[in-house]
Amino acid sequence: MTFKIIKKSMSSQARAGIIETPHGNIETPVFMPVGTKATVKALSPQQIEESGASIILSNTYHLALRPGIEIIQSAGGLHQFMNWKKPILTDSGGYQVFSLSKMRRIQEEGVLFQSHIDGSKCLFTPESVVDLQIGFQSDIMMPLDICSPYPCSKEDASKDLDYTLNWASRAKTHWEKQDTQSLLFGIQQGGVYPDLREKSAKKLIELDFPGYAIGGVSVGEPETIMNRLTDWGCSLLPENKPRYLMGVGLPNNLEYAIHKGIDMFDCVIPTRLARHGQFFLGKERHNIRNQIYSKDLTPLDPNCQCYSCLNFSRAYIRHLFMSKEILAMTLMSMHNIYALINLVKTIRNDILS
Ligand SMILES: [Zn+2]
Repeated sequence: MTFKIIKKSMSSQARAGIIETPHGNIETPVFMPVGTKATVKALSPQQIEESGASIILSNTYHLALRPGIEIIQSAGGLHQFMNWKKPILTDSGGYQVFSLSKMRRIQEEGVLFQSHIDGSKCLFTPESVVDLQIGFQSDIMMPLDICSPYPCSKEDASKDLDYTLNWASRAKTHWEKQDTQSLLFGIQQGGVYPDLREKSAKKLIELDFPGYAIGGVSVGEPETIMNRLTDWGCSLLPENKPRYLMGVGLPNNLEYAIHKGIDMFDCVIPTRLARHGQFFLGKERHNIRNQIYSKDLTPLDPNCQCYSCLNFSRAYIRHLFMSKEILAMTLMSMHNIYALINLVKTIRNDILS
C-alpha cells in the first residue's frame, strides 16, 4: 500500500490524501459506513455506492461466528460473497468479544470467549484473527486488541495495553510471513492516560505498521475527553501514515478530528439514527416522526443531492416510517450516509483549494 498526502491545510493539521488498496483507491479524509455482518443495514451494495461510499467496514467477530470463514472463502472472499467491489476494512472483533460475549477469559495466548449466538467456546489469538481477515481478503485488517472501557483505572488500562502491544507484535510477525495483499494497521490504546498512549504509540511505530488507528474512543467518554484523545493520538503518530479514528461519526466530531489530522472514520451512527427516524439536516438532527413533516413536500435536506432527497419528500418518507414500511429505512439510511460522506468530501475540497 501507498499513502500519499496530496495537500496539507494552511490553517490546521488537516491533510487530503489517497490510500491505494487491492480493491481501489480511497480519497482521504474518508467516512466508512459500517456493514458489521457483511451488509450495511437496509442498503444494497449499489445503494451504498450511490450514497458515495468508497470503502466500507465489516467485523471479524460477527463474520467468524456467522456465517463462518469457510463459506466466505468458498465464495472467493468477502467482496465476492456480498458483491461489494470497492475496499473493505475489517475490525478485529476484539471490541465485540468484550461487549457481546457472555464469558471471556484473557490469557497470554489470546482471548477465550463464548459466542453470543449459541454459547459455543471460541479462541481468538492475534494470529487466528489475522488469518480470518486474510481469508476474507480484507483490504485493511485490524489486529486483536483490548479496548479499555470508560471509565477505567490506570492499573487496568495498563494491563490491557500490555496485552494489546504483545498481541500487536505477534500479529505483525504473523502477517509478514503470509503471502497476502491485505494490510495490517496498528491500534493505539491506553485509556485516558497520556503516558500509556505514548507508550502505545512508541511501540507501534517501532513495529512499523502501514497505518495506525486510535482506539478506545467513543466508548461513553465526554466529548472533551474524546477531543483530547484525538489530539494526543494525532500528535504521537507519524505524519506519513494514514490515521484512523475508530467509532467516531457525528458531524462536529468529524470536523474536529479532520483538523487535527485524522484521515479515516467509521461509525454506525448514520444508519442507526436512520432506523430510529432521525435524519441529518446540515449538522443538526431532526426526527421524521415529527407531526410538522406530515404535509411537508420538501426533501429531507433541500441542499442534499442524495437519491432520497432528489426523489422523495419528507411527507412521503414520514408516511413510510409511520406505516413501518421497510423503504423508510433505506431512504433515511441513504440520506444519512450521503450527508456524512459529503461533509467529509466538502472538507477535503476545502483542504485542496
Ligand atoms: Zn439527502
